[in-house]
Amino acid sequence: MRYKQAMATFESACPLDCPDLCSLVVEVEDGRVKRVDGGTRTPITDGFICGKVRNIAEHLYGDDRVRHPMIRVGPKDGAAVPRFRKATWDEALDLVVARLAEVRERAGGEAILPFHYGGSNGWLTEGALATRLFRRLGASRCLRTLCATPSGAAARGLYGPVPGVALEDYVHSKLIVLWGQNPSATGIHLVPIIERALAAGARLVVVDPRRTPLARRAHLHLAVRPGTDLPVALAVIRELFASGRADEAFLADHARGADELRRRAEPWTIGRAAGEAGISDLELGRFVDLYAESRPAVIRAGWGLERNRNGGSAVAAVLALPAVAGKFGERGGGFTMSNGEAGWGVGPEAAIATPEPPTRPVNMVELGAALTEATPRVEVLFVYNCNPAQTVPDQNRVLRGLARDDLFTVVHEQVFTDTCRWADVVLPATAFLEHREIRRGYGAMRLYDAPAVATPPGEARSNNQLFGALLERLGLWRDGDPMTDDELAAAIFAGPAGAALREQLDRRGVAQPPVERPRLFVDLAPATADGKVDLVPAALDAEVAGGLYHYAPDPGSERFPLALISPAIAQQISSTFGQLRKGEAAAELHPDDAAARGIAAGDPIRIWNQLGEVVCRAALSTHVRPGVVVLAKGLWRFHTRNGQAATALIPATLTDLAGGACYNDARVEVARA
Ligand code: SF4
Repeated sequence: MRYKQAMATFESACPLDCPDLCSLVVEVEDGRVKRVDGGTRTPITDGFICGKVRNIAEHLYGDDRVRHPMIRVGPKDGAAVPRFRKATWDEALDLVVARLAEVRERAGGEAILPFHYGGSNGWLTEGALATRLFRRLGASRCLRTLCATPSGAAARGLYGPVPGVALEDYVHSKLIVLWGQNPSATGIHLVPIIERALAAGARLVVVDPRRTPLARRAHLHLAVRPGTDLPVALAVIRELFASGRADEAFLADHARGADELRRRAEPWTIGRAAGEAGISDLELGRFVDLYAESRPAVIRAGWGLERNRNGGSAVAAVLALPAVAGKFGERGGGFTMSNGEAGWGVGPEAAIATPEPPTRPVNMVELGAALTEATPRVEVLFVYNCNPAQTVPDQNRVLRGLARDDLFTVVHEQVFTDTCRWADVVLPATAFLEHREIRRGYGAMRLYDAPAVATPPGEARSNNQLFGALLERLGLWRDGDPMTDDELAAAIFAGPAGAALREQLDRRGVAQPPVERPRLFVDLAPATADGKVDLVPAALDAEVAGGLYHYAPDPGSERFPLALISPAIAQQISSTFGQLRKGEAAAELHPDDAAARGIAAGDPIRIWNQLGEVVCRAALSTHVRPGVVVLAKGLWRFHTRNGQAATALIPATLTDLAGGACYNDARVEVARA
């Protein structure tokens, strides 16, 4: 008999794919989460959190939660209510192990494809035993490219692995530029910091095709066409040089490639770039003046500007701006891209305990092709921390692959996602708060070790429990392998930098980086070979067709003239929590585009192109620039009338750098349905 336990309060942290890495206070009664709110251990959390996590009990204990293993008994036709039967863990594991072993023996390890992303980004549940298992199986390697790879490549190419401006330091900025970033939806703790800076007299510039909540309050909003950030940034660079406002002394001392960057920016006059971006010369000129004249000035580069054919070059050009204008050296001056590289000196690789084999790489963006065309044929798809049926470009091709009768698909998930509908075996996964997690922030510069504080419902098991069991059953376990969460954590912190971090974590559950709120060129130098900013890195230059900063024009056509973008929304993190957002999705259009097509607010509409079609409602908004259609990221099947998401219209093409996804390169037409 279980007795009801008194309410207990725990400190934790949020490991979801969000820059803020909030500290949490969690009230738990009888093993169930009753209340979650913000803590104070991460300074920027400041006692408040987003609605998603405040209401996480709906996710943990809702009807969609997968509570026990399930094995398919009906046809693999993607039916809205597919047929599965309840199974025991032993039975499900036996089935999975038999198929993995048989396929590996007959077709080779590369016929197995693990597919995973950032359902939970921590070092225990994302990168530990699962990675070890698939490396030892000799499986194909999943290249995790859906987000941030072009931005990461550009930032590392120019500056090396260093953090940017701490978000807390934005209060010191006199100019804040939000470029392809909407913190009101995807990093809410920056908003009050910006408000404090504005109250102290700072100016705000927003570069975004939409009039986001902060764009409505900005001193200047550049509503650029999707995919034109590169010429805009190059025009700013050109104008800074041409008007004598580039910091030549800083460039001479601290940068390489300034002359070459200037040469490559030369064709992009204010007029030409403004024309390409669909903004006025005056607006772009005003931006140059504001940026040149303001100190400290910070650019918050978001991930919106990487999601197109020019994405890597665009990020590189934007991140080159503070070097050209000499904006470093002051608190609140410079740029922020990812703050994940805060000098922690530890990482998950030590816990994996197996080097990466040179097996076939499979780019996540190209999952559809991998499942329908690749040789050797993918015979086992193992999905965890991910919902590819809805989130990967060229959705229809992905679904054709998932529908293959000869594909054995395993999905380890917290809730019954649309990908589960195509699975042969569904396994119940724990959520954060139900398992231990170690996570570093990529906005907030903190590292957390958060214990399990709640009892998993039903028979849910953590990634490490699942993949540990598979390692053992497949005979891939070796003497001395770290297996438990404690052993994995010990391996992560075993290196020279680990002891001091471990001491902080043991004391408070949270660690600070070696330098708190580091300033580039004051507290640390770029982590490049010579400590200088490399404005035209040779490796990036060789990778981009046409060279770094080469601009590929808009892919629109007469047939498909509208640019579809699918930004993140406040209620979800990609598709995570989508099951809780009821009701039909609406695609936003500018009233002029709607009128030209005879569309009124609330009308059912078709959005289509050569890849597919989405049927949903129309919403009219002057917050969307003409020529652009907005359909939220991460929609589930039930959100649209034909079950398709924006990904049905998004090509599986790759960014100019690092093979990223071109989510904003979909070009479409719209009509009343
Ligand atoms: S999703 Fe972001 S804002 Fe919400 S609790 Fe987690 S870290 Fe904080």
